[in-house]
Amino acid sequence: MLPRRRADQVRGYRDGVNELTRRLREAATRARADGLDAILVTPGPDLRYLAGYDAVPLERLTCLVVPSEGEPVMVVPALERAAAAESEAGRSGMPLRSWQETEDPYALVAALLPGAECVGLDEHMAARQVLRLRDAMPGTRQMLASRTLGPMRMVKSPAEIASLMAAGAAIDRVHAAVASILSPGRTEREVGRDIADLIIAEGHARVDFVIVASGPNAASPHHEVSDRVLAPGDSIVVDIGGTMPDGYCSDETRTYALGDPGAEFLAAYDVLQQAQAAATAAVRPGVTCASLDATARQILHDAGLGELFIHRLGHGIGLDTHEEPYLVEGNDLPLAAGMAFSIEPGFYLEGRFGARIEDIVVCGESAAEVVNHRPRELVVVA
Ligand code: ZN
Ligand code: ZN
Repeated sequence: MLPRRRADQVRGYRDGVNELTRRLREAATRARADGLDAILVTPGPDLRYLAGYDAVPLERLTCLVVPSEGEPVMVVPALERAAAAESEAGRSGMPLRSWQETEDPYALVAALLPGAECVGLDEHMAARQVLRLRDAMPGTRQMLASRTLGPMRMVKSPAEIASLMAAGAAIDRVHAAVASILSPGRTEREVGRDIADLIIAEGHARVDFVIVASGPNAASPHHEVSDRVLAPGDSIVVDIGGTMPDGYCSDETRTYALGDPGAEFLAAYDVLQQAQAAATAAVRPGVTCASLDATARQILHDAGLGELFIHRLGHGIGLDTHEEPYLVEGNDLPLAAGMAFSIEPGFYLEGRFGARIEDIVVCGESAAEVVNHRPRELVVVA
């Protein structure tokens, strides 16, 4: 009998391989239905999803070829063969076709797909690789593979949901420490540096973004950090996220205040919190992305804040921080159990202040399963 720990590792590995096999089969079936002869995937989230391979995107071509008929093959530079063999796909026996420095890897891919009329390319593929593939396969039309892979990646498996929950718990622990590092006299940049360290210390492999937007800077939703010095009365939007070692992303926003931010801000914040809670409460299968956006927007609109909510309600999240589904007016996609996305309404008043509350949620069978658990009230730092 294997020691317990080793047996768990083997079981975890087998589950991973089974999931990859299922994904590769589904990708091929969907590609066929979408009129694609193959899907071509270079390093990035799609490669991680389909091959369990966290390869660094370099100029040398690594390309997973998933034909709609036949077995997938991974084309890899000879010097990266060992790394590819160690990936989940490699260990499960996926054929690796390695190429030497003097070979043309694009011709290799073309040779694997004789007569292909149309191929789907992963949307992170570098333009230099897209164009070299086009030259190597002059009779083949190129499309984005996201039409095929997006709907697959959008609905998370139980293992993926567990990964998102772990990422959410990690970023919750960072937010739990934020109040203690905000104080008048410090700059956004200093605070941001501390937060980046905490993101890693709490278990992420990588810091993806750190927004510390204080006072009037918070009126810009994607402000990052600046040398602005925090002052009493500031409200501060802290929107942070990273990627965990297994590739899944975190993303959570809370708004803080140094002392009293003023009655006008507090009244608006109260409405924002209601809007965020109402949208979360409305999550269930069948509700459209657009109507969820409208639920939050209506509440802000009724309080006269509609004009200040200048972005969509949220975005899908998984191996990418921003992926489908997008919660935006006009998107009539119905939610389905297993979809994971942010609910992040905000208000932004140029030159004055801004605020946002953001949680990741998973659509469950009848309600939202909320991934982030920090209190959503304004966090007032005395
Ligand atoms: Zn965010
Ligand atoms: Zn977000």
